[in-house]
Formats: sequence, C-alpha cells, structure tokens
Amino acid sequence: MSAAAVQGVAPAEQTRLFWACVHEACAALLREEAALCALDRAVGDGDHGTNMARGARAILAAEEQLRALPIAQALEKAGQLIVSHVGGASGPLYGSLLLATAHSWPSEPSVASIAAALTEGVAAVGRRGRSTVGQKTVLDVLVPAAEALRTAADTRMASESIAAMLAAADAGFETSRALRAGKGRAAYVGERSMGHHDPGAASARLCLHAVARVLLVEHSGEVG
Ligand code: ADP
Ligand code: MG
Repeated sequence: MSAAAVQGVAPAEQTRLFWACVHEACAALLREEAALCALDRAVGDGDHGTNMARGARAILAAEEQLRALPIAQALEKAGQLIVSHVGGASGPLYGSLLLATAHSWPSEPSVASIAAALTEGVAAVGRRGRSTVGQKTVLDVLVPAAEALRTAADTRMASESIAAMLAAADAGFETSRALRAGKGRAAYVGERSMGHHDPGAASARLCLHAVARVLLVEHSGEVG
C-alpha cells in the first residue's frame, strides 16, 4: 500500500482503526502508569503517570458517545476531556495536541495529510508551553516524529513512513536524556535533570509506539 492509498480506506474502517489506536495508546498509558510516575519522581513531582492514566480513563469512559462521531470531532472531544480531567502541565499540553490536530484533521485522510495535521497539533503544544525542541519536554519526541512522518509520507510506503516516525521519536527521546530541562518542573532541578529521561517525552513516545503497533499490523500485508 502506498502512502496515498490510505485515502481509499472507507470511513467506517477509518473509525475502527482510529479506535484501535486509541485503545492501544490508553492501554499503554495505564500499563506504564507507575513507570511514568517513577520518571517524574526523579525530575518533578511524581504524578505524570497518574495524570496520563486519568486522561486515558476519561477517554475510555466516553468511548460510547465519541464513537458515534466523525474522527475529527471525536479527537476534539478527547482533547477537551484531557484538558478537563488531566491536571498539571501535561493536561493543557496534550489537550492542545489533540485539539489542534482535530481542527486540521483532513477530510480525505492519507499519511501525508494526517502528518500535516499532527504537525499542526505539535506546533500548538509549543505555543501552549512557550517551548521548543531541545528543552527536554514532550516536544523532543513529538517534533522529530511529526517531521519524519511528514517527510517520509511524500515518497515512502505507509509502513516505512510509520517506521521512520518511530525511529525519530526514539532518537529524540534518547537525545533529550542528556539535556538540562528548560521548561516545566524539571527546569527547577536544573543540572540534576541531566541523565534522566523526561516523563512527558516518555509518554509521548509510548503513545506513538502504541499507534504504530496498530497501524503496522494493519499494513503488514502491503505490497508497495
Ligand atoms: P506537572 O509538571 O505539572 O507535574 P506532568 O508531570 O503531568 O505535569 O507533566 C510533566 C511533563 O510535561 C514534562 O515531563 C514535560 O515533558 C511536559 N512539559 C512541562 N512543561 C512543558 C512546556 N512548557 N512545554 C512542553 N512540555 C512541557
Ligand atoms: Mg508531574
């Protein structure tokens, strides 16, 4: 399947795939709650896993109502749920990600058009947090991941584009470990943040891997 061939996927099938991705991401966040809290204990206040798990539970609890909506509206409602249920810095940031992605969601989804929407979502996180890549935050994973997906989608198959996104997310996650935090609570611990993984970068990577697991299985039969 070429990247553009995703356009041929029927709306009902798009909705099924979307919810499979949501389930996988929420399950990953619930499974890794303690690990994300442990990362946050090292550089912050230890609640990142709890915050993200609260968001995951809120979305899953609303699934029945959201499932009846087109994907863009479901994403928007999910963003609103995150803003209202997830506290801390991560609530408004992940909320902005989903809301802005929803507002740019394409009427004819393709890997390239979804990558463009994700890029808008990531830009909204930067605006909301007044932050940029290299400050040891979620953006150290989200910015390179969105960029890699967008670049690869022009020329490569869907599965290769997703793999490129994951490789960029992993590289951003590892690179940011050595950095000194420039934003959020971790910035208060200054040099002591160096050598620790950022909890938000970890949750962002977790979600991208979860979505990719679903999409790569779905595309495993592609022949190019
Ligand atoms: P809090 O810091 O309020 O306890 P969380 O622990 O849930 O909230 O989230 C912390 C994560 O939020 C950090 O690891 C970082 O990735 C992200 N973060 C915090 N501030 C910013 C910001 N200004 N821009 C981007 N990401 C940020
Ligand atoms: Mg915290």
